[in-house]
Amino acid sequence: LSDRLTQALANLRNKGRLSPADVDSTVREIRRALLEADVNLDVVKQFTGRIRERALEASASQALNPAQQVVQIVNEELVGILGGQQRRLEFAKRPPTVIMLAGLQGAGKTTLAGKLARWLVKEGHRPLLVAADLQRPNAVTQLQVVGEQAGAAVFAPEPGNGVGNPVRVAKDSMRFATDKQYDVVVIDTAGRLGVDADMMKQAADIRKATDPDEVLFVIDAMIGQDAVTTARAFQDGVDFTGVVLTKLDGDARGGAALSVASVTGRPILFASTGERLEDFEPFYPDRMASRILDLGDILTLIEQAQSAFDEEEARKVAEKFATDSFTLEDFLKQMQQLRNMGSIKKMIGMLPGAKGMREQLDNFDERDIVRTEAIIQSMTRAERLNPKILNGSRRLRIARGSGMTVTDVNQLVQRFEQAAKMMKTVAKGGVPQVPGMGPV
Ligand code: GDP
Ligand code: MG
Repeated sequence: LSDRLTQALANLRNKGRLSPADVDSTVREIRRALLEADVNLDVVKQFTGRIRERALEASASQALNPAQQVVQIVNEELVGILGGQQRRLEFAKRPPTVIMLAGLQGAGKTTLAGKLARWLVKEGHRPLLVAADLQRPNAVTQLQVVGEQAGAAVFAPEPGNGVGNPVRVAKDSMRFATDKQYDVVVIDTAGRLGVDADMMKQAADIRKATDPDEVLFVIDAMIGQDAVTTARAFQDGVDFTGVVLTKLDGDARGGAALSVASVTGRPILFASTGERLEDFEPFYPDRMASRILDLGDILTLIEQAQSAFDEEEARKVAEKFATDSFTLEDFLKQMQQLRNMGSIKKMIGMLPGAKGMREQLDNFDERDIVRTEAIIQSMTRAERLNPKILNGSRRLRIARGSGMTVTDVNQLVQRFEQAAKMMKTVAKGGVPQVPGMGPV
């Protein structure tokens, strides 16, 4: 996430309401972050247009928690474009299921064929890989190597028979698969370095000859701004039923995913994340949305913080600190709120630069809260409101009532006094905060 976008969202976090100017400046930062992630400019324009509209609506409705709202809107829109739900491979009712791969040279088609084969074998299928790339000198051998690694059979033209005619090879493989009872056929095709009419025609002919259940357009996530033109060319020339993004292990932010999904309207089925056959997984739209803008973490953070912690409450507590009227009752309430936050450690872990705080929290024990609760609940109201009256006999009574020792009670009172003192200092500095809660 660009620091500026983080900052913009952090600024919203401190606002009670969203003004049109807030919307504009936030949308500007979102736009910048998307462009940094290499999302196509037209896609960015469309996307931010919708965000702006929805954010303005939200601001008009005077909704609370503007940062949360904006992040949620952006996240929803991103996930929506990326296909919403995860889409699975379609299998034919009558085998074999035919999957054709198309894409530029170097996109990762042959590697993907191996990955798919390995995955299919694991799922209990009997895949057949078909070498219909007869362009590159080593293409057939390369497919044979990955096929062997994956434990899958490879159909390749016999020397002298069908060489140079990939359409014929693809067609022949269909009968072979039926005869030998392979239930999934993966057809590897040739690519060129750039979009090229011959290549397109060849791919289209293979499609016609084999009538695939799925045509997967394979695209390198590092392709950046070229993603849109390439995807459009393949959609016009061959058309495809789904997309596979490769090389997501690189430092590409995934902008290509958004561009391609947005302009083609086709779902992304798989993500390829390395050169090894196991570097392969189904595509999760929500994870990709997080990768593009890192919104997932921020969203979770805001949700957790806000559901557990009411800002109004924070202000009241801060006031009490400042005026010395902070009581054990407030202390208990605060601890309970902290507990509601669920895994505080995890939350802090999501904050960049919160390492020091995380170490402190490693010593934080949830059972501590339970013990504290027991002790404070065994106190009379007068004692909670004014801990100074806690003499020896009162402490003994409380210890018995709560099933703790007097030492436990003493420690709690001591901790309370320390906390009150520390927070008073903080509160006088004008920052209403609670232990463990930095600004988001
Ligand atoms: P094709 O021309 O479309 O068949 O592409 P290849 O499958 O031959 O892959 C081209 C190059 O990209 C090879 O060196 C692969 O090892 C590499 N490659 C493929 N997929 C990935 C991936 O997900 N991550 C990385 N880092 N490299 C990949
Ligand atoms: Mg290849």
